[in-house]
Amino acid sequence: MDISSLGEFRFIDRLTDGLSSKRASTVFGVGDDAAVIERDAENYTLLSSDMFLEGIAFDLTYTPLNHLGFKCVVAAASDIIAMNGRPEQLTVSIGISRKITVEMADSIYEGIRAACDKYSIDLVGGDTCSSMTGLSIAISVVGSVAKDKIVYRSGAANSDLICVTGDLGAAFMGLKLLEREKRVLNGNIEAKPKLEGYEYLLERQLHPLLRLDVIEALEQNGIKPTSMIDLSDGLASDTMQLCRRSGKGAKIFLDRLPIASKCFEFGDEIKTDPVMAALNGGEDYELLFTVPVDRYEDVLRVGGIDVIGHMTSADNGASLVTPDGSEIELKAQGWTSLE
Ligand code: ADP
Ligand code: MG
Repeated sequence: MDISSLGEFRFIDRLTDGLSSKRASTVFGVGDDAAVIERDAENYTLLSSDMFLEGIAFDLTYTPLNHLGFKCVVAAASDIIAMNGRPEQLTVSIGISRKITVEMADSIYEGIRAACDKYSIDLVGGDTCSSMTGLSIAISVVGSVAKDKIVYRSGAANSDLICVTGDLGAAFMGLKLLEREKRVLNGNIEAKPKLEGYEYLLERQLHPLLRLDVIEALEQNGIKPTSMIDLSDGLASDTMQLCRRSGKGAKIFLDRLPIASKCFEFGDEIKTDPVMAALNGGEDYELLFTVPVDRYEDVLRVGGIDVIGHMTSADNGASLVTPDGSEIELKAQGWTSLE
């Protein structure tokens, strides 16, 4: 059977179907941003892994290697943040292809170390292997969270507000910009010096930041989300994950989406819809979470957070409401790498 006929989520479901824990210390396994493991009376340990393959997750022709190392740490640690936890240790396993020199590996590790320093994470091990196909980087992150602070994808209630941090779509548009530059360099399209003015898009694609600041700000303001996920696959897919795990539906409002303004300018140029970039682009590494409806003002007071919609009962499904009031069903793009 062709894997793409199942799609990412059904494929993972099939691989992990019927798993039951043999260890009393396994609190929650597959199905959230990180696995949850008993630590002590007050705390859980969180564990998550992510893999980044050349040609799928990154393209070495336009990715500065130090940025690549930094981004892999952010992407991996983001899953710990999404449980309302703090990342503590990580391991890095690399598959090195022939074209990677010592200096190139040094640059990747410069970025990995910079991210570990910035977010107080200890690099405690890994594995090194040669690769026949290209560079691969796999990162496992361990973190912790107080038991009464943990946030799963599954806790959203009917009518909870759906909130999103930062802005959306810029990482995807940054990727499109870099791909265009690559075609210019290869002589496939006419050269136009056009990176200027789009630094923000490049920054969001090449150098995303970990939203540790958000979970700290929420905590300081006494707000504990009812459910949360990090935006790695795009707003549509990640909203559907919250719905699926919470057994709810959702309505998000098109005119409330915090689409990065530069997406409109560049989207015009390349005839790409910024709404599509926000919904399906992915890699924003912002947080999508829900809060009870009576926390509306509190959540806006934190700053840098937009309320974009609300949960509904499951039979409504997950939809995008356009300004004229019509509803479009959300579709999960998921794993474009398998298509
Ligand atoms: P995220 O986008 O937050 O990294 P994924 O969509 O990759 O999450 O994974 C969803 C869930 O499926 C997670 O709980 C993850 O641990 C689990 N998972 C993903 N791939 C596999 C796999 N090959 N085997 C077992 N579990 C997996
Ligand atoms: Mg995640």
